[in-house]
Amino acid sequence: MKVKIAVNGYGTIGKRVADAILKQPDMELIGVAKAKPDYAALRAVSLGIPLYVPKDKLSMFQEKGITVAGTIEDMLSKADVVVDALPGGKGVSMKQLYDEYGVKQIYQGGEKASVAERSFSTLCNYEETLGANSLRVVSCNTTGLLRLLCTLRRLYTIESVRVTLIRRAADPKEVKKGPVNAIKLNPPKLPSHHGEDVKTVIGDIDIMTAAVAVPTTLMHVHQVNIRFSERASRDKIIDALTTTPRIIVVNTSLTGIQSTAELSEALRDTGRPRSDMPELAIFEESVTTQGKELMLFQAVHQESIVTPENIDAIRAVTRLAATSDETIRITDETLGLKKGLYFIAGGVG
Ligand code: NAD
Repeated sequence: MKVKIAVNGYGTIGKRVADAILKQPDMELIGVAKAKPDYAALRAVSLGIPLYVPKDKLSMFQEKGITVAGTIEDMLSKADVVVDALPGGKGVSMKQLYDEYGVKQIYQGGEKASVAERSFSTLCNYEETLGANSLRVVSCNTTGLLRLLCTLRRLYTIESVRVTLIRRAADPKEVKKGPVNAIKLNPPKLPSHHGEDVKTVIGDIDIMTAAVAVPTTLMHVHQVNIRFSERASRDKIIDALTTTPRIIVVNTSLTGIQSTAELSEALRDTGRPRSDMPELAIFEESVTTQGKELMLFQAVHQESIVTPENIDAIRAVTRLAATSDETIRITDETLGLKKGLYFIAGGVG
């Protein structure tokens, strides 16, 4: 029997997670919830996905002629698991209701870590989270950092991590966010919260992060510096990065890609839905070792990188898959996720 999933919040993250659930052999999407009667609500209805809304918003949807399947409470009464994809900080206000309906809960990185039993990243702690009642999939930046760190931790002991995050100003659909013409210290006081967020999953790590926001909507870029306890081999690191699921390695001399714009364009050429890149992209030529140190650039597509982790988190709380390898196999196959070297002609190969 399939596990029944509700998605509360059908925005950037919610609609991607909902689409991904529809592709899983062991899950059933019983509905999505939205508070605004807009184009996304119309999309759900046109796809035949049952649309649920807050009680006090029912008439607003009905006045616009949008067919509604019921209230959020109706949706929860049918679900085994709810994926909360409400705007950051709003999920915690729903926790009591989710508990009342006895549904397991998956939250997003915009919530405080205390909202859930554990913060989650598939490559780092899947097995430790099996059967949890609630999990929080960490933010896009943290998910990207954790994919890298948990891959490298299998090779060497990490002594310290220092990262500068160059963050996108807004998602493409957002009209009110910035900066439009500035490099904004984000935040001015260091370190930024991203390092602390990494520690919510792998506590035992010396990490400090700094972040600036720049006027772009495509992706984040991280400049990562890592110190290991022993001399690092570039070949060994490249070998690990090209064989780990959900990491693609972009070779600039082969592809000509040396910016998020070109990477984004190459993704558009692949014909992927929404030109998404749920994989973490590492720029091969930037991977440099000197003694015990490693430095590199990586790119994170903020809108889609957490989609596979949400699917895995559902499998973790419901014990649908006993190991990270098992859930990664199903999730990555159904979503068409790649690993290895990125070739411009053949898309991600
Ligand atoms: P969003 O604003 O795009 O989507 C939020 C959705 O929730 C909208 O559809 C909105 O209509 C709906 N909503 C608002 N109030 C509601 C209510 N009371 N009941 C039902 N629906 C309601 O937000 P997002 O970017 O998808 O972010 C969701 C979460 O994911 C946040 O915690 C965020 O921090 C996190 N996250 C976002 C990104 C990103 O880049 N956008 C990346 C990783 C994680």
